[in-house]
Order: sequence, then structure tokens, then C-alpha cells
Amino acid sequence: MPSIPYPTVHPPTRVLMGPGPSVMEPSVLNAMGRPTLGHLDPAFLEIMDEVRVMLRAVFRTDNDLTMPMSGTGSAGMETVLVNLIEPGDRVLVGICGVFGQRMAEVASRAGAEVVKVEGEWGRALDPDALRKVGGSFKALCLVHGETSTGVLQPMEEMRGIADELGALLIMDCVTSLAGVRVEIDSWGVDAAYSGTQKCLSCPPGLAPITLSPRAQHVLSQRKAKVASWYLDLTLIGSYWGEERAYHHTAPINAIYGLHEALRVVLEEGLEQRWARHAAVSQHLYEGLGAQGLELRVPREERLAPLTAVAVPEGVADARVRAALLKDHDLEIGGGLGPMKDNTWRIGLMGAGATKAHAELCLSGLRSVLG
Ligand SMILES: *Cc1c(COP(=O)(O)O)cnc(C)c1O
Repeated sequence: MPSIPYPTVHPPTRVLMGPGPSVMEPSVLNAMGRPTLGHLDPAFLEIMDEVRVMLRAVFRTDNDLTMPMSGTGSAGMETVLVNLIEPGDRVLVGICGVFGQRMAEVASRAGAEVVKVEGEWGRALDPDALRKVGGSFKALCLVHGETSTGVLQPMEEMRGIADELGALLIMDCVTSLAGVRVEIDSWGVDAAYSGTQKCLSCPPGLAPITLSPRAQHVLSQRKAKVASWYLDLTLIGSYWGEERAYHHTAPINAIYGLHEALRVVLEEGLEQRWARHAAVSQHLYEGLGAQGLELRVPREERLAPLTAVAVPEGVADARVRAALLKDHDLEIGGGLGPMKDNTWRIGLMGAGATKAHAELCLSGLRSVLG
């Protein structure tokens, strides 16, 4: 038999300080290496139940329909939109970055008539711009933490606006969950989704979602079946719910990882975790300022887990990032859309939101920029 020409993988150890995946929690990787169980093994069902309980705590919700979907954050986005939207529904999407654009694209593929309210990249949306649209909508879709620009969208006013539009309030909290305050119930969010590889410090692969009773009611009143069989919450919800009906094989070991990540988050405490992200990002802002680097987002609109930095005039963006990776094993992100080639994106997420990580990035930049 010919020998296999490839050795087993030994990826280099990088410090992940881009827009995600982020620095992993070591205990999460350990948990993922534990023995795989069958997806209906009573021991696994117990782990699933614990994941649901802990996810509700992290989302700050009592929503019964709270569970991780198999797939990355975008699968969470698609799940929420394909389940709640039917062809012909009017959907209002707030856009000031890549992920707002993606929500509009996914809603439109689900058959929605999409109305876009576009704002400046690097700023939060003005709630009045949404209010002014008027009329009636099935859903209002917003990105809480816009990872492409480093902006945190204030959400407190949005329930009232959604009510004026007669709309469900749908929120992307992929980067904000477990990094900044997220309050599903008290903000009146009807449906939200996240991802495991940002502030939860798990490898990519799962998308926690939550649906309010109102959203669940909308789902139960659909005229047509959900167009995606894989993401149909009426089917996968039965596996995670009482019936335990087989739908697709759960990614068992990824769920061990999420279980451990949620445990770590709740052990630290949500308030403490948000405060840590805020303090460490503050440290980063000061250090960047001391090097004469400018930030893209006004202070009061910044998303603590992701900082957008202006690439100084005359500096080659890609060369700096390549040098950080090669000489410092440090990954930061480049810009997207209008921020391509002129912006760095520095992530301080979950286990990576420490003063030591901020310092590592600051000293890496100092040495590369010379
Ligand atoms: C990362 C991200 C997504 C997409 O998640 P994937 O895991 O890349 O599919 C969606 N929305 C926001 C705000 C994100 O940061």
C-alpha cells in the first residue's frame, strides 16, 4: 500500500486577534476531545439540556426556543430569516456594514421585499432614519455589533420602532454576545442569532439562536413550509425539545465545546465579562493613540470586542498584517467594503480580551511600523 504523503496536521500556534475566529478557551478545546456519544444517548441529551439552560442565561431570555444550530454565524442568520420570512413579506434592514448587507441578501433570497436603510460605515444607524420609513413590515433586522466596522448599534429604542412598523425585531449578535451587554428579553428582541467563534471563544461551527413566543407564533402560522429543510426550526426544534425526534446528527463534540464555553462565561459572570471587554479595549485605544494611530469609530459608538484602526497614510496594510503574522504569530484583520486596504480590525474577544493580548498587539504594531 502506498504511504500517505502527508503528515498529520500541525498548525502553527497563532494569536488570533482579528474579527474571528478568536483566541480559544483551552478548556473548550479539551472538552471537544472527549468521547463522542450517540445523538440520542441519555448522557448527551442531558448535556443538550444544560446547553439550553446556559444559553438562555447568556442571551438573558426565558425563550423556550433557544438552541445552537449546526453551522457558523451565517447559518444562524439564515435560520432566523428563512423561518420567519415568507415570500412577499416586507422586511426593513438597517445597513452600515457587511453584515447588514448580508442580512438584506439572505432576506431577499427568502423571498422578502427588502427595504434598506443605509448609514455611513463606521457609525451607528440613526433610529430616526428607521422610524421615518413608516408603513408596515414583517420584520426589522439590525446588526448589534457590526464586526466589519467596529460599531455597536444601541438597541434600547428599537422595540418601539419595530412596534410602530408592526414588525418582529431581529438582531444579529454574533460578535456582541458574551462580549458586551445583550438583553434579549428586556430589549424586546423577537429573534437573535450568534456564533461560537467570537466572544464565546469556541471554534467556529455552531450558531446559538433564540426566538420569542411571538416569533414562535409567527413560525407556527406560516402558510408555506420553511424552504430550507436543514434549518427548519419546526423540525430541528423537535430534536432539541421534548420529542427528541431525529432530524440531523448533532455535532456532538462541538456541543461539548459550547457547553464548556458557556460554563466559563457564566462562571466569570456576564457583567464582569462585559466590564473586562470594555476595560481591555480602553487600554488598546490608549496604546494605539500613544502610537499616533487613529480609530475609525467615535468613542461612544465603539464595539469593545472589535476595534477599527485607520491605516496611516503611506503604510501598506497587507504588508503590516503579513509581518505581524510571520514575525509575531499574530493575526489581525483587514478592512472590508469601503474600509478595504485602509483599516485594520483588532479583535479583543472572549479569552483574548486581556491586557496581555492588547499589549502583544501594541508591541507587534510598534515593531512592524518601526
Ligand atoms: C462573523 C459574523 C457573522 C457571520 O458569522 P460566520 O461564522 O462567519 O458565518 C455574522 N454577523 C456578524 C456581526 C459577524 O461578526
